[in-house]
Amino acid sequence: MYYIDPHIHMVSRTTDDYETLAKMGCVAMSEPAFWAGFDRGSVDGFRDYFRQLTTFEPKRAGWYHMHHFTWMCINAKEAENVKLSREVIAMMPEFLDLPGVLGIGEIGLNKNTKNESIIFLEHLDLAAKRGEQILIHTPHLEDKLKGTRMIVDMLCDDRRLDRSRVLVDHVEEHTIRGVLEEGFWAGMTLYPVSKCTPERAVDMVELYGPERLMVNSAGDWGPSKPTAVPDFIMAMRRRGHPESLIRKIVYENPLEFFSQSRNFNFTPPEGLPAVEAK
Ligand SMILES: [Zn+2]
Repeated sequence: MYYIDPHIHMVSRTTDDYETLAKMGCVAMSEPAFWAGFDRGSVDGFRDYFRQLTTFEPKRAGWYHMHHFTWMCINAKEAENVKLSREVIAMMPEFLDLPGVLGIGEIGLNKNTKNESIIFLEHLDLAAKRGEQILIHTPHLEDKLKGTRMIVDMLCDDRRLDRSRVLVDHVEEHTIRGVLEEGFWAGMTLYPVSKCTPERAVDMVELYGPERLMVNSAGDWGPSKPTAVPDFIMAMRRRGHPESLIRKIVYENPLEFFSQSRNFNFTPPEGLPAVEAK
């Protein structure tokens, strides 16, 4: 089955991974900007990272006939450096109109600190002023519930934001309901060491239905599995779910969400429909 991985960090993966994803049916991916495993020292470090995301990664994906899209931000882990964060936010408009740049992300919280909230709100302000889509990272493990609530509250407080253009990622059983009920999109991240397994993702589909729901691998530089979305497809089949339902979650939903971005230019594989934005 053709699918789209809406959250995967291909800068951390090899070209062999691109080839494997293509062979498994991946036709497009979106790559949010994230933490590199170390704190970058200057705004030029981010500028070069954004150049990699907007030039070389689309080229590598193209070698295997896949579309690569991306998102710009400074992540929550580096938001403790407020001065550098503000320099990066001021520089981001250099990239936000480029082909394939879908919006601002993955912004969010990590340890739910004051500085993280300040920088999160400044990203939201830029998104609102420019009409950008937003992709959100929610914290890990013991910080997830509180952090997700803080994020949802800050989003709901900004009346300029269109909730149908915001994706809240890494939801789990205890956070998914609040995200969907407020009208946001939710992403379930399939990860071997934390977050969610394919079987738990299928449970959540059965509980909440397929509307505004996606799955991703978040494949990155840590222990992670870039082919996790096909694992979800297999888990759905083992439970007896129809192909049309699976395709909605792994292909049509990402397409519908991404189609709201002015820089989303996607040619579906032959035989697959382009999904119109609602
Ligand atoms: Zn990520």
